[in-house]
Amino acid sequence: MLAGGKKSKTKMTTTDQQNKALIDISQRKTLRTVAHMVEQGLLDDVLNSDAFGELEKKYAIAMTSTMAQAGQTSEAVRRQFVPSVTELRVHPLEKEDPIGDETHAPVQGIVHRHPDRVLMMPTMACAVYCRFCFRREKVGSNAEGAFDAVAALTYIHEHPEIKEVILTGGDPLVLSPANLKYLLDGLDSVPHVQRIRFHSRVPVVAPYLMSDEKIAILSGTRKPLWLSIHTNIWDEMSEQALAVISRLRHSGIPMVSQSVLLRGVNDDVETLVSLFDNLLNIGIKPYYIHHMDAAEGTAHFRVPLDKGLALMEQVQKRVSGLAIPRYVLDIPGGVEYKVPLSRNNVRQVKDGIYTIMTQAGKSYSYQDFTSE
Ligand SMILES: *Cc1c(COP(=O)(O)O)cnc(C)c1O
Ligand code: SF4
Repeated sequence: MLAGGKKSKTKMTTTDQQNKALIDISQRKTLRTVAHMVEQGLLDDVLNSDAFGELEKKYAIAMTSTMAQAGQTSEAVRRQFVPSVTELRVHPLEKEDPIGDETHAPVQGIVHRHPDRVLMMPTMACAVYCRFCFRREKVGSNAEGAFDAVAALTYIHEHPEIKEVILTGGDPLVLSPANLKYLLDGLDSVPHVQRIRFHSRVPVVAPYLMSDEKIAILSGTRKPLWLSIHTNIWDEMSEQALAVISRLRHSGIPMVSQSVLLRGVNDDVETLVSLFDNLLNIGIKPYYIHHMDAAEGTAHFRVPLDKGLALMEQVQKRVSGLAIPRYVLDIPGGVEYKVPLSRNNVRQVKDGIYTIMTQAGKSYSYQDFTSE
């Protein structure tokens, strides 16, 4: 680990192993197999065990105790974390790297697509593995690529155009306090970096990983640190998560949310209104709701684009302006970035084929699809 600062040990290896260790330390049980989920009553007895075996080999599986608890009463929660054999079906339009991360990765663990912002991925481990994840080919225990923190920080040092560093992954908040501190000290000492952002699902899905020590490290940076929390439905929110979010707020960390529009999870007006309204009420500004990226085996989660537009139109009439996130799409192929979607810049040409105008005035053709 890097915390010792010894030159010979500058590879920070953050793998699922470490994730597991963190979870074990807090004496919580994360479900990591289909059998365990059946045992907990989260999944009907598995008839198709060959297919589930294949699935377990192909994709990482994890559902924390916090989510297993919420899943006892919420089908929308179960649907996000409990594997389904449907995931083995790959639609022809689905890709291994749907948003083109790889074409913009100058060094391991860095994605530099916008000149002024970089993504930094110190780990590919997460506390949970979402079945719809857009980086599902890379996350988890099969993605042991060791992150070289020195190389990543050096890259940022050498690129004065970088103003913002976004820690993502994987989930950066599964890192140990020592590793977090090392990275944040490193970023604090780069003169041109003006702000730091975290993308994380941990405060909601694994609140027990948010120790006082970790929160103090996050709130102790010299530069402003923004926390973007991934959450898709208010059913995910436990008493423990609410307590962690309150501590984060009182320690001065500004928070926004990111959600994914998901069929059978949050694709109706009431569910979205409740999510956005409630988030605002606990001090989190809804920031993005993503139209799904085309990762392999996720078509059963897709909501048609015209339905998404209609839903967001309805939501806007019902909540405070502060509670409205931008509905965005990453146009496949990495040609552009998150384009905000509305009736004004999206035109349906024919069934499932749209023309989308970016903010820069460029038009792209986009083929939408679902599993039906
Ligand atoms: C989403 C994203 C960002 C951040 O974009 P914002 O619009 O500032 O939230 C930065 N880099 C990449 C590659 C992204 O996909
Ligand atoms: S937490 Fe994020 S990166 Fe991890 S599996 Fe879920 S969507 Fe993917």
